[in-house]
Amino acid sequence: MAVFQKKRVKKNKKPYNKKLSCSLCKNGISNVSYLDIYRLKRFTSRKGKIISRFKSGNCAKHQKQISVAIKRARVLSLMPYLIKD
Ligand SMILES: [Zn+2]
Repeated sequence: MAVFQKKRVKKNKKPYNKKLSCSLCKNGISNVSYLDIYRLKRFTSRKGKIISRFKSGNCAKHQKQISVAIKRARVLSLMPYLIKD
């Protein structure tokens, strides 16, 4: 049974050593508003999901503000819950 099980070879796996910095801290933005859609759109994926802190490089304070702001904008239908292809 186990004959056909091959070891999975990881391809194109680069180590994630690059340390990202919070873009909002850099620009001196203290509060993120739910009306600021153009800024919030940068922190969503193509499908409309919120990008994680690990990928975007935000600090904990700003990531919480962004997630709350995106959820508020979704309720007010300023931003989509899901973008279908
Ligand atoms: Zn920050």
